[in-house]
Amino acid sequence: MRTAEGFFVFPSRACVCAASACLGYEKSSAEMQGMMDHRQYKTKELLKRFIPYFKPYKKTLYFDLFCAALTTVCELALPLIMRYITNEGLYRLAELSVRTVGGLGLLYLLLRIVDTLASYYMADMGHVMGAKIETDMRRDAYFRLQQLSNTYYNNTKVGQIMGRITNDLFDVTEFAHHCPEEFFIAGIKILFAFAILAGINLPLTLFIFLTVPVMIAVCMTLNFKMRGAFRKQRNHIGELNARIEDSLLGQKVVKAFTNEEAENRKFEKDNGQFLDIKKETYRYMAAFQATTKMFDGIMYLTVLVAGGIFMVKGMIVPGDLVAYMLYVTTMIATIRRIIEFAEQFQRGMTGIERFLQIMDADIEIFDEPDAEEMVETQGDIVFENVSFEYPDDHNIVFTGLNLHIRHGEKIAVVGPSGGGKTTLCNLIPRFYDVTGGRILIDGEDIRHFTLKSLRKNVGIVQQDVYLFSGTIYENIMYGRQGASREEVEDAAKRAGAHEFIMNLKDGYDTYVGERGVKLSGGQKQRISIARVFLKNPPIIILDEATSALDNESEFAVAKSLARLSEGRTTLTIAHRLSSIRNSDRILVLTEKGIAEEGNHDKLLEKKGIYYQFYTMANELK
Ligand code: ADP
Ligand code: MG
Repeated sequence: MRTAEGFFVFPSRACVCAASACLGYEKSSAEMQGMMDHRQYKTKELLKRFIPYFKPYKKTLYFDLFCAALTTVCELALPLIMRYITNEGLYRLAELSVRTVGGLGLLYLLLRIVDTLASYYMADMGHVMGAKIETDMRRDAYFRLQQLSNTYYNNTKVGQIMGRITNDLFDVTEFAHHCPEEFFIAGIKILFAFAILAGINLPLTLFIFLTVPVMIAVCMTLNFKMRGAFRKQRNHIGELNARIEDSLLGQKVVKAFTNEEAENRKFEKDNGQFLDIKKETYRYMAAFQATTKMFDGIMYLTVLVAGGIFMVKGMIVPGDLVAYMLYVTTMIATIRRIIEFAEQFQRGMTGIERFLQIMDADIEIFDEPDAEEMVETQGDIVFENVSFEYPDDHNIVFTGLNLHIRHGEKIAVVGPSGGGKTTLCNLIPRFYDVTGGRILIDGEDIRHFTLKSLRKNVGIVQQDVYLFSGTIYENIMYGRQGASREEVEDAAKRAGAHEFIMNLKDGYDTYVGERGVKLSGGQKQRISIARVFLKNPPIIILDEATSALDNESEFAVAKSLARLSEGRTTLTIAHRLSSIRNSDRILVLTEKGIAEEGNHDKLLEKKGIYYQFYTMANELK
């Protein structure tokens, strides 16, 4: 019956908040993100944190490096063979037989076969090792994300996180595999080449190697700039993702306000900015590549001129000069590879950096070391001098709040929007921790229980229901993983959902669409209630569970909720009187704390705030 009951009409601060959120005025959250997510790491630190990921794959890595060494030996053999043949041909042609050449050919063939096999292994197993490391890192990041608190999610854009654990880690595969390999190969090659070249002609060698330190210095500088550009690029693509996600999720609002053009404009701007950032990256890359190319020109020039002069002066024989040129070519090729790798290195580094930013985000709510399991709860809840402010915005919601909810009691909380009702509910399962005072369940501070057992004992039904994309069956089973088909159906029956589910095309196997778009509000709500039935906790929190529903669904849902709260400690938040009239106790929560409390009749008699709201609601009718 809905005679005297009506809607509470409170001055709604929440409406304004909601509207501004739609328009994207979330300056403070963007600032927060800046604080939490943009920590920069030094190369040394990045490597130090990354190296442990190689540990399980040590054997693969060592064998990979061994193969790398093999390929290097093969490559270094060619100039030596050429040098031998040239010198023999020039000075002792008569002694050089087809057999010798054939022998050398065979040796080289053998080396190439080894080289082929080793290269195959490196490309295959090396990459697989990289991919395994990427997988491990992604797992760690995801597990970490599951532990991060609401505060983190309130301040981090999902698009950014998505980028971090997908794209950003792709480059880590390449990095993990090539980084040790390339440096190792380059190290060996340069060392051997130097030794061999110095053996052939020391002065000429020193002359050529003079350019190397200069080259390294220049490359490092440019490389550093490139990292900055990559970092910016990653961050911006994250922003772009977040923007796309925001706009796509809000398509209904976009369409309702016909703001497609405004959305396009915003997107164009971000997209254009991304282009600018890419241009910057390419500028550094071009500078980098051109500079290194210039350096290898200088090296060739040195060999050409200095080597030529040395030969004219009789300080080097032609065969040696040929070998020389070939080694210099090998070295330049090596340096070139390292340079090309530098880009990959920087990409990998930014990927690791963005990964670490997730790994290093604070887990604000966690089990105390000596936390105990919560078993057999009575559901007696005490708020003792509780103060709370939202950690990020320093938005003070409660100061010195005292409240005792007895075992099995049905409490209703009413009050103006923004008064802190939802916040009150969020404190019980520790979605946020109190900033002062404590909350006790059965006389024990809730922080002394394990989070898991605490949350197992608290069931929540909220205004907006989140259904996962999947079937109805899967969504109800979310209440207790592994529940049998009968249990799920039983829960659905008790939630008053069974009938409508059976009328759907595929019954319990009906796909609900992303976020349950294919179901009505009342249907979604009843599924969420079925979840809680299945979970069967002794404490129930109903946060405006029926607010978004039409009268008919509200009636159905209210019946389900009444059944749900039987025999359990229940905290109901409602702005419609119908659902709370029969509560044992009604609290009026305002910004100043609990202003009034008592049952319906007592509060009406009192002629206070509750009475005012009540008559106001009736006048509206
Ligand atoms: P109610 O449920 O009574 O409408 P809430 O508990 O949602 O009120 O909000 C209480 C106050 O806390 C409001 O001023 C609101 O702006 C603020 N608030 C709510 N959620 C957050 C949050 N995640 N971060 C910062 N402030 C918040
Ligand atoms: Mg609320």
